[in-house]
Amino acid sequence: MPGQEHKPKLLIVGFGMAAGRLLQEVQLLAPGLFDITVIGEEPQAAYNRILLSPLLAGESEASILPLQTSSWYQSNGIDVQTGDPVTDLDVEQRVAHTASGKQYPWDLLVLATGSRAARLPLPGAELSGIVSLRTLDEANEVMARLNNETASDRRAVVVGGGVLGLEAACALQNRGVATTVVHNASWPMNRQLDCEAGEYLAATLAARNIRFISDAQCDHFVATADGARVAALQMGDGETLACDLVIMAVGIIPEVSLARQTKLSVARAINVDGWLRSDVTGVFALGECCEIDGEQFGLVAPIYRQAQVLAEVLQRCATSGAKADVSDIAPYTRQALPTRLKVSGVHVFSAGCLDDVVEPPAHAQRSLAWRDRDNLEYRRLWWQEGRLQAAVMFGEIGDSAIYEQLIEQQVPVQATVRALLTPNALVQP
Ligand SMILES: Cc1cc2nc3c(=O)[nH]c(=O)nc-3n(C[C@H](O)[C@H](O)[C@H](O)COP(=O)(O)OP(=O)(O)OC[C@H]3O[C@@H](n4cnc5c(N)ncnc54)[C@H](O)[C@@H]3O)c2cc1C
Repeated sequence: MPGQEHKPKLLIVGFGMAAGRLLQEVQLLAPGLFDITVIGEEPQAAYNRILLSPLLAGESEASILPLQTSSWYQSNGIDVQTGDPVTDLDVEQRVAHTASGKQYPWDLLVLATGSRAARLPLPGAELSGIVSLRTLDEANEVMARLNNETASDRRAVVVGGGVLGLEAACALQNRGVATTVVHNASWPMNRQLDCEAGEYLAATLAARNIRFISDAQCDHFVATADGARVAALQMGDGETLACDLVIMAVGIIPEVSLARQTKLSVARAINVDGWLRSDVTGVFALGECCEIDGEQFGLVAPIYRQAQVLAEVLQRCATSGAKADVSDIAPYTRQALPTRLKVSGVHVFSAGCLDDVVEPPAHAQRSLAWRDRDNLEYRRLWWQEGRLQAAVMFGEIGDSAIYEQLIEQQVPVQATVRALLTPNALVQP
């Protein structure tokens, strides 16, 4: 900071994908400018959380998960503290306290505490054998259970038929586990897919011997006779789903407990502006623990963009003070985010805002669909005033990048929409 002899202390709390990317951006932009400490609660340094589903499916190796090698942190002089959560932030004194009793002062503080997996508050939800798939430790726990040959963990229930739930279900099935998905809506991935694409997806799950129960109401979990473990999920309609393992994939909750202890403004997540600044000078937040104009985040693409912006802002604050004018730095802006399912052999694509276009259709919006039922291929486009608003594809999704671009850039569609629907016949306008 101006007038300071020492390098400004940059403290990052939370060591997940957002923090990992921020460190890379800071080192690219301003190597050696800061005295950096990063504190994580998990025992590992930042790793690629996205790969937990392929890891569980046996399609990825744990060795490729770390975002950086330990020598990268060392050679960049970054003080890495893992397995020691921050329990208290003293914003007046600008000091963080950890569970082990250590104290870390800061000049600039970044909160990157991510989210927790949501848990359904059902009776019995605390039983052993009911897990979420948020961390590497949890993925390892599931795999250890499944690898234990003497265990009978061969029947699983996944609660939640969204992207993460389906990826987990297919991963378990891949490992020979009889898997049932229970979902509280009428079709899988109902936030990203329309009903027909959902039907094709459900048919594909059935072909893989994954049972999908729609409009499901879970009632409670049943324990084994000794009360030690989960033995079944009791459904509201009276059906009992015997299982040894339950994966809960019912959404995420931003981890904002530290921020709530302080004066920081928190809605569902920490309120920050487009430059990732909280309402306390010198305190920033990025990733799933923050929100910008009410927008929250659950995918890495926008978080990586935030990391770029924040690195520039931090560099400016280091040289011009925490209240530096950053208005000439391009802020984070909302991005259209497509969804793809990471399941081998199941090709699903969704882009644009389906909330607005599926039900009820907006007055001026139109849609056209193309389908090949025999081969389980489907695509549907929604457009308004000659501009593509949303697209859903199932089966053959080789053209998805073009739809993605048309939706994001909102350029007038030159070809007729009918021509746009023909698979593999797209010409970039
Ligand atoms: C199984 C799975 C598959 C996914 N697949 C995709 C995908 O295909 N595409 C995609 O874009 N996104 C995917 N995501 C989402 C993506 O992983 C997240 O959006 C991303 O990890 C969010 O980064 P983050 O740093 O904000 O949070 P996290 O990565 O969760 O990191 C936050 C870290 O902060 C730590 N922490 C919390 N509180 C404290 C504290 N008090 N002190 C110290 N540390 C603390 C947490 O333990 C955690 O390590 C997936 C997520 C999961 C779980």
